[in-house]
Amino acid sequence: FNVNVGFIGLGNMGSHMARNLITAGYKVTVHDINENSMKKFSDDGIPTKQSPLEVSESSDVIITMLPSSTHVLDVYNGPNGLLCGGERLGPWLYVDSSTVDPQTSRKISTDILRCHLKEKKGYAESPMILDAPVSGGVPAAEAGKLTFMVGGLEEAYLAAKPLLLAMGKKAIYCGGAGNGSAAKICNNMAMAISMLGVSEALALGQNLGIKATTLTDIFNCSSARCWSSDTYNPVPGVMEGVPSSRNYSGGFTSKLMAKDLDLAMACASGVGFKCPMGSEALEIYRKLCEDGCELKDFSCAFRHHYAGKDE
Ligand code: NAD
Repeated sequence: FNVNVGFIGLGNMGSHMARNLITAGYKVTVHDINENSMKKFSDDGIPTKQSPLEVSESSDVIITMLPSSTHVLDVYNGPNGLLCGGERLGPWLYVDSSTVDPQTSRKISTDILRCHLKEKKGYAESPMILDAPVSGGVPAAEAGKLTFMVGGLEEAYLAAKPLLLAMGKKAIYCGGAGNGSAAKICNNMAMAISMLGVSEALALGQNLGIKATTLTDIFNCSSARCWSSDTYNPVPGVMEGVPSSRNYSGGFTSKLMAKDLDLAMACASGVGFKCPMGSEALEIYRKLCEDGCELKDFSCAFRHHYAGKDE
């Protein structure tokens, strides 16, 4: 574990991921634009830096966990960014775990390699670069049980695997640069559609006089069983410890879900592929955001869209 890891983006997910690396014995340095998020780490004696560039200067490995493509490009290419011309391009491994479009992952990969060639002062070998977005949500991030979907060279995946498994339970190799990001947006499109499907069916059941708890029991031992029914049920009172049981707070915001569906639809149109269900799901999540639910967990679609009782 004699590896210095620079972790950038200490939000709902990144804060837990960084903590799990520390627990596993890695030396971690952190950065976030939000001073309060950094203070929670510095209070525990964990080194913090004021810019991505400073993190880069003291790290062998960089992990980013940021909201969207714009933030990732800013952290890499912006003023005082990871690639903005330090004395040497020190890190030998870059892992972006943010959910972004595959094109952004491929651009970052090219930018890092171009910067390495330009500087030629760092490691003789080119740095390894991976897009490694995650699935599992905040509880899995906290428990170190994320699933990583990894794009990049296979040798980079193998080198990074121990690090990823300090934050997750599984890492799946998906192919070249950008393929991890492609896998992630397909996963999230399926998740959005299944959440809306379960919400719609449970709301119909209620309208037909069947309790959501009863219908959920049936789904969970029948062919409708899925993550949205048995792990992240959207109906308040059916499950403990999920966002629906705490007024849809915490978890994965509707805003991030709308962002991911937007990415999926842009990628689909880029290859001339039609996704009618994904497109409908995007409309529903855009509307939820316009109606003031953007910071509620995405399972709030049950109450807001189908049951119509959100405040
Ligand atoms: P978040 O908004 O809670 O955290 C993002 C963090 O990045 C914040 O602390 C923010 O201050 C920081 N940040 C933003 N711009 C920055 C910059 N320029 N420099 C440094 N720090 C910056 O988001 P999250 O829920 O942790 O999600 C992070 C990523 O993981 C997103 O791409 C999301 O789609 C994905 N994801 C989230 C979940 C989930 O359940 N929350 C699950 C899987 C994947």
